[in-house]
Amino acid sequence: MISIKTPEEIEIMRVCNQIIAKARKELAPMIVPGVSTFELDQVAEKVIRSYDAVPAFKGYSGFPATLCVSINHEVVHGIPSKDRILQDGDVIGVDMGTIYKGFYGDSAVTYAVGKIDEAAKKLLKVTEESMYCGIRAAVPGGHLFDIGAAVQEHAESFGFSVVRDFVGHGIGRALHEDPQVPNYGTKGYGMKLKVGMVLAIEPMINEGRPDVKILEDGWTAVTKDGKRSAHFEHSIALTERGPEILSMDIH
Ligand code: MG
Ligand code: MG
Repeated sequence: MISIKTPEEIEIMRVCNQIIAKARKELAPMIVPGVSTFELDQVAEKVIRSYDAVPAFKGYSGFPATLCVSINHEVVHGIPSKDRILQDGDVIGVDMGTIYKGFYGDSAVTYAVGKIDEAAKKLLKVTEESMYCGIRAAVPGGHLFDIGAAVQEHAESFGFSVVRDFVGHGIGRALHEDPQVPNYGTKGYGMKLKVGMVLAIEPMINEGRPDVKILEDGWTAVTKDGKRSAHFEHSIALTERGPEILSMDIH
């Protein structure tokens, strides 16, 4: 079932997501060689709790941390660790969720650590652009798969591939609500998009093949071919004026 949010509920969800943006502002300058992913997690949790919100991933199906931190060939759901130290040239996906006043926020960015190679720069740029292509396609009156079609067309035009095993989702009083929002598909298909839907649009784009596998920790998804992956995510509300990004970064 798709839940349609009132303007008041969307305002609360904007707060949920702006808490993520605030935490991200604290984290961004910390993302340098030598920092552990555990340190990033600690700061994110502190910032989230300082706004009377709760980290949404911690305890979700048993996930142990505030952040999902996924480095290089890790696609999503990496677990922060004191032993995981950022290295110059890494790309690191930082995914964060919050719960505030009964609603969820969810957003992710992939960062460069120090100096990254040209191929990695292109992967990050194209993945972020793919997310915005998907967001622009999320218009009331349009179709659900318009989003994935726009993501896929952009990513594949640069020779990258779209991960199939994980998808975007509706979000609201639960972290994952209907509908699922694939990052691939055919324009003009899928349910009609309506004002009041709130969606997390989150392409995961690979340098190589789309196939992924889960590591023995039961969480970390990695590319099967060992090539790098990037992930960007915004929670957006569909309004009369079109898609509105709730998790927009603060500059
Ligand atoms: Mg997320
Ligand atoms: Mg999500």
